[in-house]
Order: sequence, then structure tokens, then C-alpha cells
Amino acid sequence: MALIEVRNLRKQYHDFLALDNVSLTAQSGQLVTLLGPSGCGKSTTLRCLAGFLEPNGGSINVDGESIVSVPPNRRDFGVVFQNYALFPHMTVADNIAYGLKLRKYSRGEIETRVFDVMKLVRLTGLDDRYPRQISGGQQQRVALARALVLKPRLLLLDEPLANLDARLRDEVRWLIRDIQQQSGITAFYVTHDQAEAMAISDMVAVMKSGRVAQFASPREIYQKP
Ligand code: ADP
Ligand code: ADP
Repeated sequence: MALIEVRNLRKQYHDFLALDNVSLTAQSGQLVTLLGPSGCGKSTTLRCLAGFLEPNGGSINVDGESIVSVPPNRRDFGVVFQNYALFPHMTVADNIAYGLKLRKYSRGEIETRVFDVMKLVRLTGLDDRYPRQISGGQQQRVALARALVLKPRLLLLDEPLANLDARLRDEVRWLIRDIQQQSGITAFYVTHDQAEAMAISDMVAVMKSGRVAQFASPREIYQKP
């Protein structure tokens, strides 16, 4: 539940300008999608938001405060990346509880939060399974639960459906949107799939060669000839 303002973000890889003055706003509780073809700068934008990459210019403000120099572990953001692998040697419940244990939450609090979040993402009963013993869709829901259990103020999702087959993709997509709306969490969502973007977003940033070519609601974008 936060207002995110990205202004004139620039990111250079050596002499290649990957982000050329990217500006975006997510109002509190909105899901904003970054849409565009491979290589247009979607992941770079998300990694700058997450704090995994340092931009060369521009600002990122959360509720009016700059976070550009705040390290990733202090940003209080949940991240679900396409290849954000689960720990294979840990059970589902331990994977989800990991961040809470690092932060020294009490055992009771951890149990309650893990139980609640597993119910939310519909994984109840799978506590003791290992990642290899559950489906791809279930694994991605574990990744989602692992992010949500920390009650982050912003959720970052980078092609979370990319490794799923078509049927699971629909299921996980609607689950993500449902949870995002119910919890009122602000989210950025990366995809190259236009139909997916139109279906789940409050706002869409259409990216092209490191720039935001259009920033509008799905309805406005859809009505354009
Ligand atoms: P997208 O997520 O839209 O596919 P990326 O943000 O991953 O795009 O990449 C944007 C551009 O920056 C691409 O041309 C990509 O090849 C380039 N790029 C990404 N990461 C690096 C890197 N670490 N070093 C050099 N170039 C990179
Ligand atoms: P995505 O499109 O999901 O961002 P990519 O397959 O483009 O993923 O990139 C995977 C990894 O390779 C990222 O860490 C990215 O930064 C890096 N990368 C992408 N393009 C380049 C490039 N041209 N040179 C060096 N690293 C790159």
C-alpha cells in the first residue's frame, strides 16, 4: 500500500543505454504492468526498483521518500522473478518461512503467517512437500507466498507465468490479481504478452527501446486504433 513514483530513470550497461528517462507512477493499490518486446528494458526497470541494479540517473520515490540509495533488504519489497528458484532442500513451509526466520520473528508468529499465506495462495496441506514434489504452478505460488508473507509495501513480479503451461498460466494469473486486489498491495508486473497485460492491469506502461512509449489504462490503450 504505497505510492511509487519513478522519474527519468536512466540505466546504462557500458555504452548501451537500456533505460532512457523512464517515468512511471503506481498509485497506492494499483497493479501497473510494464509491457513490451524482449530487450525493451522491462527487467532492467524492475531490477532498479528492487535495488538489484543501481540506476545511472533519475529518482524512485515511495510515499514521497527517495529509495535509490536504500539497499534491497531494507526496501521492504516482495519480489517474484521468473527464475527466482525455491530452495530445493527445504520444504514448502520452510521456503515460505525463510525470510521470517532471518528477521527473527517468533515461532508462533511464523506459524500463523505461514498458515495464513498458504491459505491465501491455495497451498494448504502442502507444507511438508519439497519443491520437486509439486507442480510448476504450485512452485510459483510458493514463490508468491514467500514474497507476501513479509507483508511488503510493494510487490514486483517479473514474468511470473513464463515457465507455466497455458492452463496454469490462467490460474496463477487470476490468483495473483485476486490477491493483489484483496490485499490492496501496490504491484509492478512485467510481461511481453499484451492480452495478459490488458487483462490484469490498472495501468500499462508500453515500453519500446528503453522508453515508455505510452502510459495509460488498458481501456485507453485498447481503444486506440
Ligand atoms: P526486457 O526485460 O524488456 O527483455 P532487459 O531489461 O532485460 O529487457 O534488457 C534491456 C536491454 O539491456 C537489452 O538490450 C539487453 O540485452 C540489455 N542488457 C540487459 N542486461 C544487461 C547486462 N547485464 N549487460 C549488458 N546489457 C544488458
Ligand atoms: P529478461 O529478458 O527476462 O530480462 P534475459 O534473458 O534478457 O532476461 O537476461 C538474463 C540475464 O542476462 C540478466 O541478468 C541480464 O541482465 C543479462 N543480460 C541480458 N542481456 C545482456 C547483454 N546484452 N549482455 C550481458 N548481459 C545481459
